[in-house]
Amino acid sequence: MRHYKNSLSGTVGFIPTMGALHEGHLSLIKTSLAQNTHTVVSIYVNPTQFLAGEDLDKYPRTLEQDLALCKKLGVSGVFVPNNLYAKDEVFVAAPKIKGYVLEGHFRPGHFDGVLTVVLKLLNLVRPTNAYFGQKDAQQLVLIKQLAQNLFLDTNIVGLPTLRDSDGLAKSSRNVYLSKDERQKALSIYRCLSHIKNNTERKSLSELKDEATQILKVDTLQYLAFTDYNLCMRQTFKKGDTLVLIAAYVGSTRLIDNVWL
Ligand code: AMP
Repeated sequence: MRHYKNSLSGTVGFIPTMGALHEGHLSLIKTSLAQNTHTVVSIYVNPTQFLAGEDLDKYPRTLEQDLALCKKLGVSGVFVPNNLYAKDEVFVAAPKIKGYVLEGHFRPGHFDGVLTVVLKLLNLVRPTNAYFGQKDAQQLVLIKQLAQNLFLDTNIVGLPTLRDSDGLAKSSRNVYLSKDERQKALSIYRCLSHIKNNTERKSLSELKDEATQILKVDTLQYLAFTDYNLCMRQTFKKGDTLVLIAAYVGSTRLIDNVWL
């Protein structure tokens, strides 16, 4: 990968993914294509970010289709490693607070795995710009911090969440949803839209109560209001408020958010 990268001239945009590419991924790729001389995509289902009992084994894998999509879009190279780990390795530790609230609370150690693989990939590819989705808000915040704390020479770019026409955030895990479950999942978007549209008129605590009425998920793990640095908020502040939801619909775990 390093050798290939060194053969490219001009700027390089990089999009790390776990494959099963959907339009959310494609929007990151298209932005990179527009902003860089070359675009490199990686496809790697990173085992260290899955906890025991999570969906590592059944995570959707559609490599042929993914490669065809990348080729059609004009991606310069796709990096598909078999394995990025050896035994008894140095492992990145996510920050003790920001890495262990919200997603990190329900998936302890998840961000250690995410940050480790992202650091490996960024070191291999050494891109000018790396693109990540706001869909994974906490991940984006932590990757920006990784780049800052470890003085990485890559510009981390966050891009908006792409949704289906009914509002459901695109996700590789949406294929797990039955028709009925999808209807329930849509309440997450309705809830976030309700909050987004009423921040001027209502208080955060009022909206939190109303939001829980709107949600029709099976298990709500969290509905949280934070600033852009993941510290909990009691009041709205335009340009610095994140609303984050994680919930189970059936056995599928979904996350979504809005940046206000
Ligand atoms: P994944 O393959 O799920 O690890 O995602 C790879 C990248 O695509 C991450 O930076 C995600 O945040 C981003 N991504 C996933 N879903 C979406 C979406 N619906 N809209 C925009 N970006 C997304």
